[in-house]
Amino acid sequence: MALTEADLARIAAAVDEDRLWRMHMEMAKFGATAKGGVCRECLTDEDNQARKLLIQWAHELRCTVAVDAIGNMFIRRPGTDPDAVPVATGSHLDSQPTGGKFDGAFGVLAGIEMLHALDAAEITTTRPVEVINFTNEEGGRFQPGVMGSQVYTRPEELERMLSAVGADGVILRDALAAFRAMAGPMEDRALNLPYAGFVEAHIEQAPMLEETGNTIGVVTGIQGSRKYQVTVTGEEAHSGTMPMRRRKDAVLAASTMVVGLHRMMEDPADLTRFNVGRFQAYPGAPSVVPGQVRFAIDFRCPDDALREGLGGQIAGLCQALAGPCDVQVDEIQRSETTPFDPGVMAMIRKAASRADAPSMDLLSGAGHDARNMTKLCPTGMVFVPCKDGVSHNEAESATAADLAAGARVVAQVVAEMAG
Ligand SMILES: [Zn+2]
Repeated sequence: MALTEADLARIAAAVDEDRLWRMHMEMAKFGATAKGGVCRECLTDEDNQARKLLIQWAHELRCTVAVDAIGNMFIRRPGTDPDAVPVATGSHLDSQPTGGKFDGAFGVLAGIEMLHALDAAEITTTRPVEVINFTNEEGGRFQPGVMGSQVYTRPEELERMLSAVGADGVILRDALAAFRAMAGPMEDRALNLPYAGFVEAHIEQAPMLEETGNTIGVVTGIQGSRKYQVTVTGEEAHSGTMPMRRRKDAVLAASTMVVGLHRMMEDPADLTRFNVGRFQAYPGAPSVVPGQVRFAIDFRCPDDALREGLGGQIAGLCQALAGPCDVQVDEIQRSETTPFDPGVMAMIRKAASRADAPSMDLLSGAGHDARNMTKLCPTGMVFVPCKDGVSHNEAESATAADLAAGARVVAQVVAEMAG
C-alpha cells in the first residue's frame, strides 16, 4: 500500500531534532576523547558498549535485533507482510582512532530516529523496515574497511575477513566472539538476504554543502579509486663512511617518486585526489643509509578514463625515478565509479523539498557501505553539512538542525520504499 503525501509529511514532522541530538551525545560517550572526538575502533570495548546501547534502544522501540556472521547488526520494525523483502537504512558506529562524533554514527542514529518517527506518526508499512550497523567501515584496526557490507554482499569473502589480524594482534574472529558473548543471545541473520531498497545518511566530509548554503546532498554516486603499495629497495650502509656517489638510498629514491607522482597527478580541473598517507623507512636508524621504503598510494578520481590513464602511469614513473634502487609497485585494491539509483535520488530530492531543506546533487569522494549495497538493491545516499568539511578528525562538527533534516529525508524515503 502506497503512503500518501500527507503520511510522508507527517513522518517528516515527527522527527525530533532534540532526541536525535541527545542520541548522538549519548553515543559519543563511548570512546570519548579529551579533544571532543571519539576513538571507537571496530569491536573494541568502546564499540561493543555502543553496540549494546543500540540493542537497548532497539528493544525500547519493540524492534528485533539480528546479527550476521561478520557482526553486522539488523534492527527490524515489522511490516504488515512478514514475507515482504525489507527496506533498510544505516551506516556504522565504529570510528577512526582520532575520529568525530558524527561520521557513521549519524547514519545509524538517523535510522533509530526514523523508527521513533514512524511510531509517533502511527505509520504501518507493508515491508519490514531495518536499521543496519555495519561492522568495520573505517578499516583502522582491521583491514580492509567497508568490511561488513562487503561480506554481506559477497559471502565468499567471509573466511578471509574473519582471519584479519588487528593492529593490536587480535584476530577479528575472536573480537567478534567477545562481542557476541557480551551482547547475549541474538537472532542469527544469513548473509546476502535481499533488500527492496537501501539509503544511507552521512555527513558530507567535504565543504560543498556549506559553501553553497544547501542542507541536503543528493549523492549521485561514489568516485572510483585505486590503491597501491610501493616497495623501494636500496642498500643499507654506514652514513658516516659510504661515499654519496655509491649509495643506494631508498628514502631519496622514494621521496623523488612521491614528488614526481604528485606533479603527474596535478590536473587543472582539480578532479584527482592523490595521497601518500603512509611512508615507512627501514631500518629507521639515524646513522644507517635507509635500505628500504614502503609507501601507500590512495588515488581517487570520478572520471574513469582519467583514473585509468593516470593510474596506469604510476608504476612506470616510479621505475623511471628509482635511480640506483629497485622498485616494486603492487595495485592492492581498485573500484570503479559507482552510480546510485536515479529513482532513489528522485525520492531524496522530493523528501528534501517536503522538509523545506534546500538540496543539491553531488558525488561522494569517500567510500561508504552504500557502494556495496548497490549490488543488492536500488540504493542512495543523503549528505548533510559538516563544519569546514572536516571529518576523520576529533574536531568534526555538525548542527542538530542539519542532522534532523537528514533524518527527515531518510525517514520519508525509507517509508516510501516500504509502502
Ligand atoms: Zn563513515
